[in-house]
Amino acid sequence: MGNPKPKGICDGCGKSPRTLTQIESGQWICVTCLREIRGPQRPKHLATPEQIATLRKQGFDVSDDLPKAEYRRLTTMITLRSRSVPFNSSATLEELEELEYRNYINHRSVNLAGVSHNNRDGTNRQQIIRRCSAGELLRLKAEDDNPVYPNAVAVIRLNGEQLGYLHSEEAEEVRKGSQEGWLYAAIINKILDDGVKGHYLGVGLILVYARSTADTAIIKEHIANLIRKYQEAH
Ligand SMILES: [Zn+2]
Repeated sequence: MGNPKPKGICDGCGKSPRTLTQIESGQWICVTCLREIRGPQRPKHLATPEQIATLRKQGFDVSDDLPKAEYRRLTTMITLRSRSVPFNSSATLEELEELEYRNYINHRSVNLAGVSHNNRDGTNRQQIIRRCSAGELLRLKAEDDNPVYPNAVAVIRLNGEQLGYLHSEEAEEVRKGSQEGWLYAAIINKILDDGVKGHYLGVGLILVYARSTADTAIIKEHIANLIRKYQEAH
């Protein structure tokens, strides 16, 4: 296919002036003729063949003329299923979207800060990190009396031992989000050890965040799945 020629006589209908496109046979034709060659376009309200293929791969038995609205309803179901949110499969798109919004839960990886320092009670963070393993659930605690960083968020084992802090960007997000109704937790993704004697161990974290309207059972299941995943990976 060549570049469109600005104006000229269409090889198809012979009309001029026309904005022309060269087709594979080498002819220069106008939009009207091109439409005739390509045949009728798929109606706009139907899902595309790619979208239909995606649904079939996910196990949905859908027809070739699936409406776009139904495609959106089914993809919302896939999202809910991936987040372990129970739903009624005959629910409307609006009902499913509302369920997704209310039970929103997600996670991403972040790094732990302050691993080379000692805790204020004198305990050694490197020694504490050495006792940790991937998949361990941690607690986040806003530290309002921190003398250096007023926005500090401490990262703590369930037994109370402190591993370090969140980096300032995530710390601000957690502090602001907590006031706006978000819940946070962290899981150890992996202990970062470059194998060099004398180097500090680092900690890769998974930061989990959920809307506080989310069902507790859903949050628990999401966290349990993550714990299992990171335990198995190491
Ligand atoms: Zn033409």
